[in-house]
Amino acid sequence: MDLLKQRILNDGEALNENVLKVDSFLNHQIDPLLMKEVGQEFINRFEDVEFNKVLTLESSGIAPSVMVGLLLDIPVVFGRKRQSLTLSDDLYTSQVFSYTKQETNTIAVAKKFLSKDDKVLIIDDFLANGEAAGALIDVVEQSGAEIVGVGIVIEKAFQSGGKILRDKGYRVESLARIVSMYDKQVKFVGDN
Ligand code: 5GP
Repeated sequence: MDLLKQRILNDGEALNENVLKVDSFLNHQIDPLLMKEVGQEFINRFEDVEFNKVLTLESSGIAPSVMVGLLLDIPVVFGRKRQSLTLSDDLYTSQVFSYTKQETNTIAVAKKFLSKDDKVLIIDDFLANGEAAGALIDVVEQSGAEIVGVGIVIEKAFQSGGKILRDKGYRVESLARIVSMYDKQVKFVGDN
């Protein structure tokens, strides 16, 4: 997706070889027009599958997910992150180790919002080691719902998450795939 790649090149900041800061359009300030294009691109990529719900993770997955929900008129559910969680029978929970924050969170989704009849598209802002997406997959599997695919705004293809998910058979569609960030230069898969 050229618009997104160009925006990453213009406004993204590689903090080091591993972490990309995109807080001017995705992670803090949000560019709604770009998010709308991102939402439309996810819809195009998953045009051949049916789904009735989007599942994401708070907070940065919400903006792109809501655009998909709005354009298709389907609900968006986000996993809530909590440091410690009082166990509840009404929740599906899973553990996520956050690579950027170096801490483990529990994510929770209310059982009433996911059922075995749902067909779910999972969306997140970044894919790095696959922890967040893996936890979202885990809660969908607990619910018995079907996962139609995983949509990622920015995949860091030099980290293991994409390979892990694809090797497990999940369909992963990433709108921008970064191959390296040496010397703070962002390079995408397919660049020379
Ligand atoms: P994973 O769970 O795949 O290791 O990492 C994905 C999650 O960590 C995303 O939900 C995102 O919030 C955060 N993350 C991972 N790498 C980056 C990065 O380079 N930049 C930003 N802004 N967030 C990241």
